[in-house]
Amino acid sequence: MTEECPMSEDATSLVYKEALSRIEDRMPGTRIVFYKGFLDPSNRSERAEGGRERGTPRACASCGAPTYAETCSFCRMKERLRESALAARGKGFP
Ligand SMILES: [Zn+2]
Repeated sequence: MTEECPMSEDATSLVYKEALSRIEDRMPGTRIVFYKGFLDPSNRSERAEGGRERGTPRACASCGAPTYAETCSFCRMKERLRESALAARGKGFP
């Protein structure tokens, strides 16, 4: 029995995993904090962001997934992660 993430076959997730590993090299503990945030239902649910008021979801500007914001929560998290990686490394991100 494996604990493999159901999204692990997704190319984006693979890149993501690699990025997380690299970040964790520089900042131990980052990955667990990140995963906790990602798994948190209040973080994950678009409805927590005012979906009821906004009505119909739109396509994420980045990946096209339905979202009530400019980009979906996954992409926003990814962007946040990218920014912290940039800050940590002080140079380009793969
Ligand atoms: Zn997205």
